[in-house]
Amino acid sequence: MTPSPLPYRIGFGEDAHRLAAGRPLILGGVPLPHAERGAVAHSDGDAVLHAVADALLSGLSLGDIGQHYPDTAAENAGLDSRVILTRCLDLVREGGYAPANVALVVTLDRPKLGPLRAEIAGSVAALLGLAETEVGLSFKTSEGLAPDHVQVRVTVLLAWVGG
Ligand SMILES: [Zn+2]
Repeated sequence: MTPSPLPYRIGFGEDAHRLAAGRPLILGGVPLPHAERGAVAHSDGDAVLHAVADALLSGLSLGDIGQHYPDTAAENAGLDSRVILTRCLDLVREGGYAPANVALVVTLDRPKLGPLRAEIAGSVAALLGLAETEVGLSFKTSEGLAPDHVQVRVTVLLAWVGG
């Protein structure tokens, strides 16, 4: 007998990328216009969307985006992370769940992200089918401990919607 689905499932995701000159910095689908350095990555290096996608997959025990989108695969080179996120969200919906709210912690020393808070929250909300009030964004610096990295941690609550 199949156990009845949990009313809620929690997902957790984490991602980090090294920063280097000559690369774009994109966070949550939003290109940062004044970033001096961007993410070194096989895809577009959007650490926010990678962490959210991993959180979605983990919530339904579906593995991680490294399994679904190996960075050794040529077709994933330069891949728009919004595509990755949308496909992971489809898997969640096929499993009968939908995001209820999401909480993100972004650790980046420079540039300061505060001025882009509404834009990043709005972009993540739109991609997940949530209201902006259901996206919690915390911006931290590493206090100089990791000035060459961007790191993102995400928890997402998935609610059973049937299916
Ligand atoms: Zn990544």
